Formats: sequence, structure tokens, C-alpha cells
Amino acid sequence: MKKQERVLAVFDEELINLLGSLNELPKIESGERFCNICNDTILFNNISIIVPQEDKKVIYVCNKPSCVEAYSLKQDGTK
Ligand SMILES: [Zn+2]
Repeated sequence: MKKQERVLAVFDEELINLLGSLNELPKIESGERFCNICNDTILFNNISIIVPQEDKKVIYVCNKPSCVEAYSLKQDGTK
């Protein structure tokens, strides 16, 4: 059995609501979402950035400072 309840306990309620509205909760629970930068599995306790896209995809960035920084730089570069 997975230990989801324990993970959810430290997870922000607003994030749950957001992810729920995006239909992303099951994907994260089953480990199907990955960091946009380092490709680590995104879990409830390592989400740093969530960027819903117009095509219903969602970009995730994990909470490693290097990933957060790399993602900001990437955003600047693509404009
Ligand atoms: Zn990462």
C-alpha cells in the first residue's frame, strides 16, 4: 500500500484544490508527473511550481533551488 495519507498531511490545501480542479491529483499520486527541469518524480511534498498550460498540460518544477532557478531562466529565454 502507498502511504499517501501521510504525504497529504504536509500538503497545502490550496494546492490540493488547484490540482484537483486540473484533474492532476491521480497523476501525482501514481507518480506520473515529473519535474520540468530535472525529471524527478513530482510528489506532493516536492512541488515548487505548477504552471497550467492552455492545452491542459501542467508543467511542474520540483523544489530544488537549482530547478526553480533554471525554470525562471528558461521562461526568460523563451519570450
Ligand atoms: Zn527538479
